[in-house]
Amino acid sequence: METMRLGTYVNGNTIVVMYTDGTKIRYVRTGQKPAPEYPESIDLKLTNRCELGCPMCSEQSTPDGTHAVLNDLPSVNDSIIDSIKPYTELAIGGGNPLTHPQLEGFLWYMHSRNVICNLTVNAVHFMDNIALLKKLCDRKLIYGLGISVPTAIPDRLIPALKDFPNAVIHTIAGVTPPSVYDHLADHSLNLLILGFKTKGKGYDYFLKNHVATNLYDLSDCIKDMRSRFKAIAFDNLAVEQLNLRDIFPDEFDELYMGDDGDFTMYIDLVAGKYGKSSTHPLRDIDAGTVTELFQKLKEDAEEIKPMEIGEVIDGLDYCLSTGKCIGCANSEGRMVATCRPLVENALRLLKEKNN
Ligand code: SF4
Repeated sequence: METMRLGTYVNGNTIVVMYTDGTKIRYVRTGQKPAPEYPESIDLKLTNRCELGCPMCSEQSTPDGTHAVLNDLPSVNDSIIDSIKPYTELAIGGGNPLTHPQLEGFLWYMHSRNVICNLTVNAVHFMDNIALLKKLCDRKLIYGLGISVPTAIPDRLIPALKDFPNAVIHTIAGVTPPSVYDHLADHSLNLLILGFKTKGKGYDYFLKNHVATNLYDLSDCIKDMRSRFKAIAFDNLAVEQLNLRDIFPDEFDELYMGDDGDFTMYIDLVAGKYGKSSTHPLRDIDAGTVTELFQKLKEDAEEIKPMEIGEVIDGLDYCLSTGKCIGCANSEGRMVATCRPLVENALRLLKEKNN
């Protein structure tokens, strides 16, 4: 597939050029750092409905989960949606976004405004909706199709992918077993490894399964895995949990696209919340436009309180009782990764609390 320029736009002090293969290049004046006015990409939750009941579901989605309220499309007048800038990359998810009754109209509306929509669905839902998804991709209503394969590969998934050159397989660090990676490997697939979220059902899952051990095991084999996929990318949570800075010291700057909130944000249109990412502290939507929300995240960064001591300790129960290093909270209160100094910090907090 020939790579073409999708669009060029100015965002703050940065010129951004996007290509059809997903490549994005930022240009700034020498000596300046990019300072975007609005997000380059938004993680958008459109529904909390999903019938699969996965045991690690960080969204706690349910078969009767709520959909985001969208006004009649295409005359959308929701100010948040209308303020999404052209060429913003929208990563639409849920729940199962395919259950939203207005999904297709929403995609048409975004397409008419040159917003680049990507959709993430579970592999089970992908297999059940191949014709619909093919139509949405062919019409460029969806550019990137994320197919989540957390624990098992449905029959015939890999042959079905040949009609979806824009597909990216999503796995979850600490959950997806080595056998699944092995099955997926050597088929020239694009892979996105997501970090493990301890929110929602994830916390219980974390305690009852071998997530921490699996994270370490994945860290150990990630270098070898790279040659077996067309490309492997990571979200920021996985970057931290797998210690990629240490594993790829020379390439790390190329791998890392910036901290959450630098160029990206999360909007939950179901609950009316937003944040730097879905694992950061969320706040009520308290402004009328995406640009205003994005700027507020930057302005208010100092005000975000670290996680309460009790929450840190709860999150580390398993770690402390087993002596294994598993979870911690960074300065913004996000449950992240697996490093000894932060466990020691948690032990110190525990002692302080008990004194
Ligand atoms: S498919 Fe996704 S949204 Fe549905 S239950 Fe599983 S993790 Fe949750």
